Amino acid sequence: MLIIRVNKDNPETEKIKKAAEIIKKSGLVAFPTETVYGLGADALNARAVKRIFEVKGRPPDNPLIVHVSSVDDVYKIAKPNKIAKKLMEEFFPGPLTLVMEKKDIVPDITTANLKTIAVRMPDHKVALKLIELSETPIAAPSANKSGKPSPTRAEHVIEDFKDEIECVIDGGEVDIGLESTVVDTTTYPIEILRPGAITKEMLEEFFDVKVAGESDVAKSPGMKYRHYAPEAETIVIKDRKKILELAKKLSKNGKIVGIAAMNPKEFKDFITFDLGRNYEEFAKNLFKALRELDKKCNVIIVEGIEEKGIGLAIMNRLKKAGKLYDLSQSITDNKR
Ligand code: AMP
Ligand code: MG
Repeated sequence: MLIIRVNKDNPETEKIKKAAEIIKKSGLVAFPTETVYGLGADALNARAVKRIFEVKGRPPDNPLIVHVSSVDDVYKIAKPNKIAKKLMEEFFPGPLTLVMEKKDIVPDITTANLKTIAVRMPDHKVALKLIELSETPIAAPSANKSGKPSPTRAEHVIEDFKDEIECVIDGGEVDIGLESTVVDTTTYPIEILRPGAITKEMLEEFFDVKVAGESDVAKSPGMKYRHYAPEAETIVIKDRKKILELAKKLSKNGKIVGIAAMNPKEFKDFITFDLGRNYEEFAKNLFKALRELDKKCNVIIVEGIEEKGIGLAIMNRLKKAGKLYDLSQSITDNKR
């Protein structure tokens, strides 16, 4: 795998050109965005897109997000309605993906046979330059093996794919650390299919918003699959006292316990990962914490948080990565 190190604030055109050449020749290039690293291929080239599904082990009915470098380019692949136009004006470039009516130029494999397409313009100079120089929209899911935590640094991409992909552009650590908010603009109220850094509260400034429930899997095919999961058993607990109680009990039973929490001083008897001081830091550190603790532990306990603002997106990922501990259960009753 070719590793291209770039200056993320001022990416070197000559270096990005090399990666763009790979995209043009139907290859796969992993690249940084403000959310997570993406695994990119020419979105209009069915053969190239097929390889994304193959190397990720991604189910073929889980459609990809297509990335553009300008609002004008959206019109080549999609037919935005008034709502989509307004949201693009407000939030592009940024961590918001809009589901819109698709145009025929996009091969069916890219959208998993749907008549709609999910489009995003990333707010990241490296990603924008790669798309521009590739002269095509780039289909890119997160650059991890299907089911694993998403990559927030180039090292994570290399861990997962080694020589299975042609290139990774290393632009250092990402800013946000969680995948984009996915919004269906073809229904009203508009519907959040996947929560992210563009929050319900932010969207409500403009339109009525509904959040798809866990039972609405058909609307966002990706929702039905296991995601973000470490090998280690992962338990999410919203109460710090219970975290400590369960950790003690599990380690007595011979488990190696890792705890990811905000300011984890009180858990110093265990392997810990500090998720930071606020929810933004929590989001940015979460996937790295899961990957690192997974290397050392066989049980990971993650601190659960309030589901508001970006907390909704964090808890959405955590519930898929592991299981939410039922607080009415007493720890001593727990069979583990
Ligand atoms: P990922 O590529 O892993 O970040 O996931 C992309 C998410 O966007 C998945 O949850 C998909 O189901 C969703 N998605 C992509 N395209 C569409 C679409 N046309 N309609 C609804 N959801 C979509
Ligand atoms: Mg993903």
